[in-house]
Amino acid sequence: MSLQPERTIADLKELRELTGDENGAQRVAWTDTWLKAREWFQSKIKGLPVQHHYDAAGNSWTTLPGASEKTLILGGHLDSVPNGGWLDGSLGVTASLEVLRRFAEEFDGRPPITVRLVDWADEEGARFGRSLLGSSAFAGTSSIQADRVRTDKDNVRLEDAVTRCGFSMDRFPEAAREQKNAAAYLELHIEQGPVLERMGLPLAAVLGTKGVERHAVTFLGQEAHSGSTPMSARHDALAAAAKLALEIRSIAGKHDDSVCTMGSVKTFPGIVTAVVGRCETTLDQRDLDAKILAGMLREAQEASERFAREEKCTVEWSRIWSIEPIAFHPALLGFCEEAVREIGGAAHRMPSGPLHDAAEVSRAGIPTVMMFVQSLRGISHNKIEDSREEHLELAVQALDRLAGKTARWIEAGSRN
Ligand SMILES: [Zn+2]
Repeated sequence: MSLQPERTIADLKELRELTGDENGAQRVAWTDTWLKAREWFQSKIKGLPVQHHYDAAGNSWTTLPGASEKTLILGGHLDSVPNGGWLDGSLGVTASLEVLRRFAEEFDGRPPITVRLVDWADEEGARFGRSLLGSSAFAGTSSIQADRVRTDKDNVRLEDAVTRCGFSMDRFPEAAREQKNAAAYLELHIEQGPVLERMGLPLAAVLGTKGVERHAVTFLGQEAHSGSTPMSARHDALAAAAKLALEIRSIAGKHDDSVCTMGSVKTFPGIVTAVVGRCETTLDQRDLDAKILAGMLREAQEASERFAREEKCTVEWSRIWSIEPIAFHPALLGFCEEAVREIGGAAHRMPSGPLHDAAEVSRAGIPTVMMFVQSLRGISHNKIEDSREEHLELAVQALDRLAGKTARWIEAGSRN
């Protein structure tokens, strides 16, 4: 028996049954349901000629040793957001498992190169607000001192939740040892957006993950009585913010794949009888090109100052968080495009707006690429998240094709 994509669908349904409820997937990292999902995974690798261990940051490694120590890594994450979907992260793990089974069988338990499957710990950051926790420890970019004191809504500390699962944050940096012999990393994920569905395509090769600029933008005006203050005498902080909220559409609209979002607005005093004296907003901007991203930030800053002046207000900016764009490996991107074309018919390339563990792996200098499969209605992080089963099966086949091409590339390189 060779690759059986239908086995991946069956695995996903089994996992959904075991770790979901009427509101969706509940595999939040460092909870009992997440541990149950990981135990389930262990039961799935029984009988395969593999070794398993958890690294110091809780990442789960399944290794099929090959003739060469040069290693192809396939990955995903079993953790979900609360009330999440059945595919986000778990498709990467279960599809990789099927590819691992195929390698084990085709090469009689010993492929030419070593193949490993990783289930990253706490990709989502859903409970403690720190995403890519396990993969950043692997990449050596973790921020342990800042992260250990993070608390969840019940005031449980991240460090205590980690300890309860049998790991120690002091030892997180040791996870970087897993980089040894890593020659390539591949990750299959659902798109989580509407682009492929609109184009009528099942699959895409992912160019990289977009850089992010995330800022708090606060407009300051003057609180005043809504009845006695003439329109011409107002310093309306909300009016200035509202202009910016519309302007970011044209700022983003100048570029193909840029996005700008003002996701939060708070007004003060925030009552029906007062002109807004203070308006706190947030702006999130993303693009795959660092120059475009920097340009969009500058444009938004200039526009905010112009609108503040027009409304007789002032504006203050402070950076909440940022990350540079990460472009995936050109050779692997080429293989991914070939695999997508061979299995899915058309080779579409697109950037990823969401961040993924693959971004951390790529930052560690390991050649990396991702593949997307179409999401229905573009919805994710929700129980209605879904993809067509025939597309999921194509995705498993395409990932397997990509893994084969990448394995041969690694093998050819390791002979030199
Ligand atoms: Zn994910």
